[in-house]
Amino acid sequence: MPCSVVIGGGAVGTAIAQSLQMAGLTVSLIDPCDTQKPASWGNAGHIAIEQIAPLASLATLKGLPRRFFSAHGGVSLPVSALPQWLPFSLRFLAAARPDRWAAGRAALSALMALAMPAWERYAAQLGQPGLLRAEGHFIVWSDPAAAARGRRNWLEADCGTAYFREASAEEYTQLRMLTVKPVAGAIRCIGSGQIADLDLFASAARAAFVAAGGVTIRAQAARLAREAGRVRVELASGRHLDADHVIVAAGVASRPLLEGLGHSVPMIAERGYHVQFSAEHWPHGLPPVVFEEDATIVTRFQDVVRASSYLEFNRPKAPADSRKWDRIEAVTKEWGLPVAPRLSTWVGSRPTLPDYLPAIGKSRMADNLYYAFGHQHLGLTLAPVTGEVMTDLIRGSVGRVGLQPFDLERFA
Ligand SMILES: Cc1cc2nc3c(=O)[nH]c(=O)nc-3n(C[C@H](O)[C@H](O)[C@H](O)COP(=O)(O)OP(=O)(O)OC[C@H]3O[C@@H](n4cnc5c(N)ncnc54)[C@H](O)[C@@H]3O)c2cc1C
Repeated sequence: MPCSVVIGGGAVGTAIAQSLQMAGLTVSLIDPCDTQKPASWGNAGHIAIEQIAPLASLATLKGLPRRFFSAHGGVSLPVSALPQWLPFSLRFLAAARPDRWAAGRAALSALMALAMPAWERYAAQLGQPGLLRAEGHFIVWSDPAAAARGRRNWLEADCGTAYFREASAEEYTQLRMLTVKPVAGAIRCIGSGQIADLDLFASAARAAFVAAGGVTIRAQAARLAREAGRVRVELASGRHLDADHVIVAAGVASRPLLEGLGHSVPMIAERGYHVQFSAEHWPHGLPPVVFEEDATIVTRFQDVVRASSYLEFNRPKAPADSRKWDRIEAVTKEWGLPVAPRLSTWVGSRPTLPDYLPAIGKSRMADNLYYAFGHQHLGLTLAPVTGEVMTDLIRGSVGRVGLQPFDLERFA
């Protein structure tokens, strides 16, 4: 029976491992299971199928000056990380050209159209249909001019299989009860969703994979060694693993593994921060709320409320900037949100490529090498569909979506 090794047990790697195992392959999933949560379990839990437009765009560039951290915005380019973000920015500028952006949007929207049905299948496979709550999300504003601008943007935007509508009178009442700041405008997305609890998701995904016969190996892949046109995985312990298929899905850590073989991987750690609070006074069943002026999304999970923000272009292991946690907490206080004192804080890396498209495909560097990473702000949303398209690719079946735009060779 063909055997596969998946490197990286975040949302993307775990979904690929599960999908291959269900397709009848023998799969091993390697992850060091560090105590520091990766982005997959520290994110905002939003199934963001409305975000079909790559962020590498002229619109992003136009809005940038008022989005910097120094101007109370969400974007941060630390001087100490200039060697990381300068080359990334140059490639970003090239990818934002209207023709390249339009091609990227066509590719991303084709993948995103499959994301929610793939999530429904995945949640059912995990035996946790309630994990996926496809009840949309809210966007709110306190300033009337910002509300008018934001409302116009979203109501007129092409959001793929999702769309926005004005919040109903009942929804306005519910949102106004949540805040002390006036709510000048609110809209609701129809078609998006959230994961009910990311810790539950992590444990259910791992358990379902093992129950299906998959093997988890707690280890770190140190490098990929090429021999006679194929790669083998060398673990940090010195052990070697041979497989018919080696799939690199290690988030930001995919870069050194693949660059070691000669691939060009201009990926950056686009770091985000969250603060968790007790959920005692937060309404049950309220979908995620985006406070757009403050670039903050607030999501209720099982026992905690998580407020997330920031796009900090940095090295993956740079020290955290604690001002960002303080500012997230200050935003919750300014809005008067019913959240108790902070319980915990977290920082983690979105794996982001300069054109804001993922890299999903088969390597030209070795016959048995595949990759799936670079899912930027959308890795939770796209994990199940990535598992499905990787399984199509490995089995040689007709793909449900063209993978050419996601080929890593675009950076060669
Ligand atoms: C603040 C924040 C909020 C976000 N909100 C959302 C959201 O609401 N919706 C959404 O869709 N996305 C969201 N994202 C993005 C999403 O979290 C990422 O795109 C996604 O987690 C990427 O998943 P991944 O599995 O590729 O990588 P990761 O989550 O980084 O997982 C990589 C895994 O690989 C393992 N690994 C690393 N190196 C090795 C090695 N050498 N050997 C073996 N294993 C290795 C790690 O231990 C880890 O488990 C958010 C991100 C952040 C930071």
